[in-house]
Amino acid sequence: PAEPELAALQHADVARLLPVPGAESDKYRRGVVGIAAGSARYPGAAVLAVSGALRGGAGAVRYVGPAGDAVIARFPETLVSDQGPHKAGRVQAWVTGPGAGDDAGTVAEVVGEDVPVLIDADGLRLADRDAVRARTAPTLMTPHAGEAAALLGVDREEVEGARLPAVRELAARYGATVLLKGSTTLVADPDGGTVRVNATGTAWLATAGSGDVLSGLAGSLLASGLSARDAGSVAAYLHGLAGRFAADGAPAGAHDVAGAIPRAWRDVR
Ligand code: AMP
Ligand code: MG
Repeated sequence: PAEPELAALQHADVARLLPVPGAESDKYRRGVVGIAAGSARYPGAAVLAVSGALRGGAGAVRYVGPAGDAVIARFPETLVSDQGPHKAGRVQAWVTGPGAGDDAGTVAEVVGEDVPVLIDADGLRLADRDAVRARTAPTLMTPHAGEAAALLGVDREEVEGARLPAVRELAARYGATVLLKGSTTLVADPDGGTVRVNATGTAWLATAGSGDVLSGLAGSLLASGLSARDAGSVAAYLHGLAGRFAADGAPAGAHDVAGAIPRAWRDVR
């Protein structure tokens, strides 16, 4: 039979993919995720990306950027550096873009790193397409419909009316795995094939900072060794469940969603 166009990741698949430490584990083997995000104008995006990353299974979270004081105040376990990504020390996967403003230099530096990279938010606008295409390590891009439309040079409505072709086209153009956010989330690999769909979320997730938590979470799963496709789809699954737990019939902030990620893990395992 032909491959299906769309397939949902099942609870049991997610359970199998979750990175669980064993007796031989140490923090480096669990993976270090680097967060290069935030700006003087948007320090909160850095804090939220770190909040997701701390709950994604990596053994350590490293932050580089101008929001180090805000990050440390909230999450003292973060390794903070004021050097750029190249000088940050060991990192197994990078997240760049949330709240980055116009910091194209940091985004370019991260795109040049030979480890898995997640590009979100402002990073999607700032990243050079040829530089992304030239990468050999996995790349995961996480646009919402508006960001996807800007990358494709079409109207947002066009993407919303044809999400499956849009996510496939973006993945092909950038040679990257693309996670298209929305009421359902689609994850497409650049070489075609079945697109993963996630529907665990809730409309309460349509709240400021929600996507920043998702990018940290997915980056942490990338640092733990999951493929871009698995990291993106497992993150979307957990983030959707966490949104349901956090906003149990009432609004919740993005930081509450991050706080509910451990409950989502326990629900899956
Ligand atoms: P962002 O737009 O970057 O803040 O990301 C928003 C996050 O919330 C993504 O993970 C979306 O998939 C999720 N989200 C937004 N709206 C909805 C919705 N109506 N139903 C379910 N999830 C949503
Ligand atoms: Mg966003």
